[in-house]
Amino acid sequence: MAEAGSFADKVKQQADIVRVVGEYVRLKKTGKDFSGLCPFHQEKTPSFTVSPIKQIFYCFGCGKGGDVYNFVMDMEKVEFPDAVRLVAEKSGIAIPRPKERSPEERKENQQRGVLVEMHREAQIFFVKQLEGTLEGKAARAYLEDRGLDKDAIARFGIGYTPSGGDALLRFLRSKYKENLLADSGLISRDQSGRLFDRFRRRITFPIANDSGKIVAFGARALGDDQPKYLNSPETPIYSKSNVLYHMDRAKDALRREDFAILVEGYMDAIAVARAGISNVVASCGTSLAEPQIKLLGRFTKRVIVNYDPDTAGQAATERSLSSLLEQDFEVRVLALPPVGDKKADPDLFIRERGKDEYIKLVKEAPPYVDYLIARARRMDLSTGEGKVRAVNFLLPYVQKIPNRILRSEWATRIAQQLRLEEPVLRAALSRAAAERRSEVKTQPELVGRAAKPVERRLIRMLAEAQDFRQELAKRLQDARLYHGLETEKIFAALIVASLSGAPVEATEVAALLEERDRRMLFEILFEESSELTWEEAASCIEALQHRQAERELADVQRSIEANPPVTEMRGLLEKKQELMRRLAAAR
Ligand SMILES: [Zn+2]
Repeated sequence: MAEAGSFADKVKQQADIVRVVGEYVRLKKTGKDFSGLCPFHQEKTPSFTVSPIKQIFYCFGCGKGGDVYNFVMDMEKVEFPDAVRLVAEKSGIAIPRPKERSPEERKENQQRGVLVEMHREAQIFFVKQLEGTLEGKAARAYLEDRGLDKDAIARFGIGYTPSGGDALLRFLRSKYKENLLADSGLISRDQSGRLFDRFRRRITFPIANDSGKIVAFGARALGDDQPKYLNSPETPIYSKSNVLYHMDRAKDALRREDFAILVEGYMDAIAVARAGISNVVASCGTSLAEPQIKLLGRFTKRVIVNYDPDTAGQAATERSLSSLLEQDFEVRVLALPPVGDKKADPDLFIRERGKDEYIKLVKEAPPYVDYLIARARRMDLSTGEGKVRAVNFLLPYVQKIPNRILRSEWATRIAQQLRLEEPVLRAALSRAAAERRSEVKTQPELVGRAAKPVERRLIRMLAEAQDFRQELAKRLQDARLYHGLETEKIFAALIVASLSGAPVEATEVAALLEERDRRMLFEILFEESSELTWEEAASCIEALQHRQAERELADVQRSIEANPPVTEMRGLLEKKQELMRRLAAAR
């Protein structure tokens, strides 16, 4: 991460992790280290520890750990470059201007800049079409009919694109090269290479990225044209999975309210925002992509999913639930009741029943498990088969609940609500409650596995004994002394780092390890320690040699007991004698 000599490295050298963490966590000095209540999980007694000497942190509860950058990245939900900037700011270190980029990067950057500018101009053009043309007048009447008045049109930048098929093209053509027009997604090219407007006879909705720049458009057909909704394609400035509609305007409210309402389309987001709930975003598509979830997670970890009640919407709700749960979101589901005989999306519901009614339902939105149980109860539960189907529908969600106690509570509730008497079904549920699938990331149950004191000391030395860790790494490597140990992978990673000659960065080695090894490394680094000496290292090596000899002896003994041919047997017996001599001498 922080390459030696880089700006990030310099900042890390100068920054004090205790001061940076101290801005978020009340820290108390305990011995050499500081401790406090972990900001990443709920706890009553402090298991979150910061070492000023090593400049790292570790939580013995949830296992989060790393350097000052890892902390800021997790805390502020930002990527590495932003974490460096934040730490520099907090530490009063001046930030250098970005380096000149390569010619290709410069060119791409420039192209993106031009495309953003083109979208800005297209937006002005669409707004003018709605305001000042005959066709626009019909579009305004349609919008009014949908309850969108002048204010709303202005607030959300709603526009119109005429039916001609080349109106925007003619407007943009004089200013931009043909290939740029085609790259923008606003203009399409037919097989003969002729350019034409992608959007025709449609209401336009500007889609902005999270910093408020218009990067795409959504367009709704005015008449019965198909498709009803047409969006910009993927372009150099727009990727559907990276953008949430209305995010740029929702940020403050998301932080303030600490929850988001997630809807499907821009009409829904507009309706909810107009009802006074600004913390609403739309996925603009039926499923929620991981980058969209990450983006949202930078502002809040609590979501109320309010998708359309139709079958596609229901499936989308369930898919999104899975993804959100995997990212540790707290999820509620708002399933709106029908309006008359019509299934209600948020837009329709608010228009027909009013915003107060909607807000009331938002407040009452049940946790996702209740929603799922209600769904399962609507399945045919009169037969054993039906019950199995209902349980199989619920199991994957139960398995995704991160907290074990909660998981078990839900399993009991599901069994009660679905009236499951059958022991098999109950067993399936409690199994699901006990174990989480391997694809789910944190598994605190695995931690605390034994590593022998000798291994722990050697690991500590490889990480910190500047004077002799290279020599130590060589000795362990040459005799393959760490092979077959529980801690083998930790050794392997530290030995590679030690032999490289560069300073060992514990957090970088940790990043290469699997979860349980990573945690063990951090725990070893935070152990109380006496001085690290070569004498101790030598005696630890001896202990490992002894264990290696014992393992070999056991192998030889097994081979002997298998009664091999005489020629082989002689060698085995000799080997056994030698190993026994070695072990006796060591004693
Ligand atoms: Zn924690």
